[in-house]
Amino acid sequence: GAPHVVIVGGGAGGATAARYIAKDAGEAINVTLIEANPQYTTCFFSNLYLGGFRSFASITHGYDTLAANYGITVVNARATAIDRQARAVRLADGSRVAYDRLIVAPGIDLIYDSVPGYSEDATGIMPHAWKAGPQTQLLKSRLDALEDGQQIVIVPPPNPYRCPPAPYERASVFAHVLKAKGHTGSRIIILDPKPKFSKQALFSEGWEKYYPGMIEWYGPDVHGGIKGVDPAAGTVETDFDTFHGALVNVIPAQRAGRIARDAGLADDSGYCPIDPASMRSMMDENIFVLGDAAIAGDMPKSAFAANSQAKVAAMNVRGDLIESKVFPARYANTCWSLIETDDSVKVGAQYAPTAEKIASTSSFISQTHEASEVRKTNYEESLGWYAGITADIFG
Ligand code: FAD
Repeated sequence: GAPHVVIVGGGAGGATAARYIAKDAGEAINVTLIEANPQYTTCFFSNLYLGGFRSFASITHGYDTLAANYGITVVNARATAIDRQARAVRLADGSRVAYDRLIVAPGIDLIYDSVPGYSEDATGIMPHAWKAGPQTQLLKSRLDALEDGQQIVIVPPPNPYRCPPAPYERASVFAHVLKAKGHTGSRIIILDPKPKFSKQALFSEGWEKYYPGMIEWYGPDVHGGIKGVDPAAGTVETDFDTFHGALVNVIPAQRAGRIARDAGLADDSGYCPIDPASMRSMMDENIFVLGDAAIAGDMPKSAFAANSQAKVAAMNVRGDLIESKVFPARYANTCWSLIETDDSVKVGAQYAPTAEKIASTSSFISQTHEASEVRKTNYEESLGWYAGITADIFG
């Protein structure tokens, strides 16, 4: 019969790969997509949901089109192990799915105890909302319930993590919600383990312009280091002080999803090394790793990047199995961040493989003091991007 490609993880990377292989190979390759959840809520644009710009339904997508229009077998189950010797994936019910090529795209796992005192249990009190779904809804309900004068504390993660500008876009939409309600007595305190952050000059300018005095960012040279959180007390302790938040958003450190690490696909960094020319695992020639779980050189961990990497992997999988032509790999990324209504900034790059890594070949970033029309155009561009990429991922 036709060769079989199995994909673990139906997110931005995995679902794109499934769709491109099925679309371009037709019946020459059988494609099975294994995804733990029946629906996928995008982390991308989840900050817009928090800010009241988007509904939850508008950022939630299903797998019906991939099954109906592309002949992909969608298995709604958790993969529990990869048997690399036998080339098979084990599912939670004990069944096995054999593969000729495997694509592993499980996204990230959160290292809860990277922040002392934080735990999976504590996520019900101090939501991370770094995997979208119930956590995002909890964070929004807590945000919407705040009263004037109450304080928010955000603890961003250390590098590397999914979506570098997102903690700061999140602070912006929090401020947008508070300001719109006239809660100008509230403060948003960001206690960052990093000395600097993505698009810092742009965010700082925007915060001063739209939310004067509302957002305070402190790096480690000011707070001395994050010592831990006390979920019951609602506090974050640093070397020099204790901060109380009516809402505390803790975003812990991250690493590749467990299935990839358990299969021996990750290195000591917790992420998976890949061949920059193909996204093929450096640990196993029958496996490709994409998206947040992979070490993608200069590329950030983003949905745009995962979608771009998936197309390169899909092309190489088809080359392996049905000898279709393989072109040189090219990758791209753009990340938009909304600072206030109609004011969006962006950063992006093009990439090509070198022997060592996926390397940036050209890049761009929004400038401070830009005209408001430019920022509004950026926002409109981001809306078009979201519509386009979700159609490219889910059909
Ligand atoms: P994911 O999209 O997380 O998909 C992984 C999938 O694998 C999940 O559906 C999971 O259920 C499944 N899975 C995991 N393990 C298993 C298993 N063992 N068995 C079965 N299924 C499994 N990116 C942008 O490009 N633009 C943005 O504006 C943007 N904004 C963001 C804002 C926030 C607040 C956050 C947190 C992220 C944002 N991102 C953005 C980043 C983006 O969401 C991620 O980089 C992207 O989702 C990574 O894709 P992925 O396929 O690697 O992982």
